[in-house]
Amino acid sequence: MKIVMAALIFILAFGSTSFAALQPGGPSTNGNTNINSTLSYADVVKILEDIERSSKVKVEVSTLDEYGKSEQGRSIYVAKVGTGPQKIWIQAQIHGNEKLVTEAALQLLKMYANSGEKDVERVLEEATLYFIPMYNPDGAEMNIRHTRLSDSGKLIDLNRDWTAKGFEAVESKVVYAYWADVNPDFAIDLHHQGLKQVYGTNESTSFSLGISLAPDGPTLPSTGYNEITKQMMAYVYDEMKDYGYTHIDRYQVGVNREEEFGYDIDIRGGVVSAMMMGLNYNNLNPEGHSHPAVFFETKGNSTEGSLGQKSNGYLTKQNYLALKSLVHGYVTGEVGNVNPDDWYNIPHYPLAGYLTDYNGIVPVGSDSGY
Ligand SMILES: [Zn+2]
Repeated sequence: MKIVMAALIFILAFGSTSFAALQPGGPSTNGNTNINSTLSYADVVKILEDIERSSKVKVEVSTLDEYGKSEQGRSIYVAKVGTGPQKIWIQAQIHGNEKLVTEAALQLLKMYANSGEKDVERVLEEATLYFIPMYNPDGAEMNIRHTRLSDSGKLIDLNRDWTAKGFEAVESKVVYAYWADVNPDFAIDLHHQGLKQVYGTNESTSFSLGISLAPDGPTLPSTGYNEITKQMMAYVYDEMKDYGYTHIDRYQVGVNREEEFGYDIDIRGGVVSAMMMGLNYNNLNPEGHSHPAVFFETKGNSTEGSLGQKSNGYLTKQNYLALKSLVHGYVTGEVGNVNPDDWYNIPHYPLAGYLTDYNGIVPVGSDSGY
C-alpha cells in the first residue's frame, strides 16, 4: 500500500498541470512586447529572435531541423551564447505543462546577452551556454506533460525516453543527436512540481534541488558524478537560502509527513540521467561521453490553486537566480571547493528508498538495484 501510494504521489509530483498566467508587466522583449500570459511556442521563437537581433554580445539562435522536428512538425530551438571552452547545457520545458521555467531560461539568456557585468563576462569567456528553452513544443502547445506520437497517438514522457532500448519520440532522437554533437560538460534541466512542505517545517516548498540518479544510490556512484552533483546542489542551496520567500529542499517523492520518510528518485531513462550514464544510441556516442547533470523543480500547480499570478514573478526569479549562481559556481570552480557532505544539510525527509524506473521501489541498503 505504501508503495502504491508512493508511486501515485510520484506521478502527481512529477506531473504538474497547466498554469494560468504570467505576472503582467514581466519581462518584455525589445522593450515593446509585454509577456502577460505563459509563453506560447510562437512567443518563444519571437523572443529568441529579438534577443539574437538586439543583444550586446553575440547570441546564435538556430533550430535543430538538421536532426529533425517534433512529432507535429515544429522546430526545436537552441540559443548559444559565450565563447569559452566549457560547454553548459540548459534545457527547459521537456514537460509541456511546466511553463515558468521557459521564462526563467529566457531571462537568463537575455541577461547573458546584455549584462556587461564583470562576473557575467567572465562566464562568457570561459564557457559557451546552450539553451533549449522549450524542449517539448508540442506538449507546450497542447499544454500537456507529454508529446504525442504522430503515427499511433501514443503519449510519451520525453523525460523517460532516453533509454538504451532506443527512443520512441522523434524529439528524443533530435535532441540526443544534438547532445552527442555538442558533448557538453555539464547540464541543468528545469521542471515544475506539485505542492509539498519542507521537512520539519510548515513551509511550502518553493524550490527543490534534484539529482535524477540518487546520490549514494543504486546508479550514481558508478558514474563518477556522485560527489560533484552533491557539491553543485549544496552550492546552489548556500547561495539561495537567504533569498526572500524561498523555501528550498531536496527533491523527493512519496513524502509521508506523519511517518517522516520520503524517496529519492533513480530514473535511468531521464534525459539528464542518460547524460550522466553516457548513453550511446545508434553509435552516436561511441566514446561514451558523459557529464554531471542536475535538475531544479519550481513549485506550481494551478489545479491545486497553488500558483497565483502574484507568485509567478518570484518563482521565475528564484529559478533564474539559482541557474545564474550554479553556472557561475561551475565556471569559476567554486563548486569544487564545496564539501560534498553539505548536500545532507539541504532539508529532506529521512530516506526510505529509491523510486526507480527499472525496479519499482528499491529500499535503502538493498542491493536489488540492478
Ligand atoms: Zn517535469
